Amino acid sequence: MTNIPNCPKCNSEYAYEDRSLFVCPECGHEWSSSESESVEEQNIVKDAHGNTLTDGDTITIIKDLKVKGSSSVLKQGTNIKNIRLVEGDHNIECKIAGFGAMNLKSEFVKKI
Ligand SMILES: [Zn+2]
Repeated sequence: MTNIPNCPKCNSEYAYEDRSLFVCPECGHEWSSSESESVEEQNIVKDAHGNTLTDGDTITIIKDLKVKGSSSVLKQGTNIKNIRLVEGDHNIECKIAGFGAMNLKSEFVKKI
């Protein structure tokens, strides 16, 4: 579903989309829809030091993390290979020996 905004000039509800532009039939104003699209940047995930992480990176855990639903703790210094970035609060998907598949928060890891 395309969500067409009101005209930013006259607030008309009758704006329509023409290719990558929105056009207002009432005042003739045209504006770009790519502005709002470009805000939806790629899902950029950064580690605790602000380095950008990418799929396949190796990371290390920078503080002990409790594992949800278990009494286990992921130890600081645990290295994790071949991460995969996902959307959401826990934005790193990975497999950890002895724990299996897990999702971690990027703020608790560091790229190696
Ligand atoms: Zn208008």
